[in-house]
Amino acid sequence: MSDCIFCRIVAGEIPCRKVYEDDDMLAFHDISPMRPVHVLVIPKKHIASLTAATPEDAPTLGRMLAKASEIAVTAGSADGFRLIINTGRVGHQEVPHLHLHIVGGPDPVGPMLKPI
Ligand code: 5GP
Ligand code: ZN
Repeated sequence: MSDCIFCRIVAGEIPCRKVYEDDDMLAFHDISPMRPVHVLVIPKKHIASLTAATPEDAPTLGRMLAKASEIAVTAGSADGFRLIINTGRVGHQEVPHLHLHIVGGPDPVGPMLKPI
């Protein structure tokens, strides 16, 4: 997916501030952090969104979840964090390559959503 910004980061064509990498996933600081810790974890394989994930992607997605806690601590959010996967139009997903946001830092990130 040469026109996908996150595939281009995986390919090294666009620089990132990498915090973790293995054969299946890459984690890097968000370019516009919402909190002192804001790291994105992506599968190296192009998966457009969580909706597009298949059962064969489950091991990688599970490993991303399991790794997120370790990445959060390393990035500076040892006392907890929040994981977000924006999905599709309703989820306000802007980059169409599945990604997990890790947000945190020293202070609580605040309520998840406002009540309707
Ligand atoms: P979404 O709304 O799709 O869940 O979030 C996409 C995230 O990707 C945003 O937080 C945005 O700041 C981040 N982002 C977009 N382009 C780049 C980029 O080129 N580099 C990095 N590091 N983050 C990016
Ligand atoms: Zn991609």
